[in-house]
Amino acid sequence: MKQNISLVDPEEEVVKAIRHLSDEDVKMALSVQATLRHSLSSSLRNRGFLEIPPVMVSPLTDPLNHPVSDPRISCYGGEMWLTKSMIFHKQIAVQKLGRIYIMSPNIRLETSDKAETGRHLYEFTQVDVEALEWTRDQSMDLAENLIIEAVRAVREENRKEMEAFGRDISDFRKGFRRISYLDASREYGDEFEKSLSADAKEPVWLVDIPLQAREFYDREREDTPGILMDMDLIWPEGFQEGLSGGEREYDYGRILERIGKKGQNPETFKWFLAAAKQGMKGSSGFGIGVERFTRYLCGLKHAGMATAFPKIPGRISL
Ligand code: ASP
Ligand code: MG
Repeated sequence: MKQNISLVDPEEEVVKAIRHLSDEDVKMALSVQATLRHSLSSSLRNRGFLEIPPVMVSPLTDPLNHPVSDPRISCYGGEMWLTKSMIFHKQIAVQKLGRIYIMSPNIRLETSDKAETGRHLYEFTQVDVEALEWTRDQSMDLAENLIIEAVRAVREENRKEMEAFGRDISDFRKGFRRISYLDASREYGDEFEKSLSADAKEPVWLVDIPLQAREFYDREREDTPGILMDMDLIWPEGFQEGLSGGEREYDYGRILERIGKKGQNPETFKWFLAAAKQGMKGSSGFGIGVERFTRYLCGLKHAGMATAFPKIPGRISL
């Protein structure tokens, strides 16, 4: 994972960055992405969601459920983290603001073996959405509408680009297929996300993810302890995961219990616990990866083609 910064040649890197920005495919992908961002934003605003500014540094961020090394910065004699996701800020803000979204830049220092998955960038943007007292079904319904409207916008506004990429994506119909995590793993084995995606022609919901496979913050099912009220959306044609979300745990005691079940240290989450102590209501939401959505629509080999200054895991670049 360590890359010796003194061995990185800035001249070479800048030449690479300029070459990337001159690539016609990159230019077209950026144009598709601009349509996507605009459409997602206006679909949310039309439904009464308030855009709030991103948080980039805080003593509280998403623990995630997979290994990343954590960029911390020292501030005023204390330590803060760069945002891995605004999950906790969403949950806190939504208590007072009701329905929110953020065009949220995230930093996740993924391990270098993720360089070639095509899906991982260590700097990316997600459209992070949260609504107070909403259920998972309401979130899924909203997400489907946002996606359907965004695909329609791209089909209309980026005809030229879609044609050049040889992409012929038809409008999706509401009510995407749902499959539970356990059924998917039974049907497709260990690599179920990959197979599920490869087989699909339309997006598929993966629901009811086991507690150990996710972070502590999504709510446990009341009828099936150990299974969460959460979901991932899998893009078709092998492009894999493009959205995750769920209903959130909001009760102080249960949050502590869930942190314990994951073997995590409550001290790490003391700012969130302090917020929970004030009293929180339930909420639900999700985050849509913008570069991954663009990658799928354009049929790109790597999500790095869907951004201006790609940050590929393991490499220092402009
Ligand atoms: N923003 C969250 C994440 O990155 C997604 C969600 O809303 O659950 O995990
Ligand atoms: Mg998450």
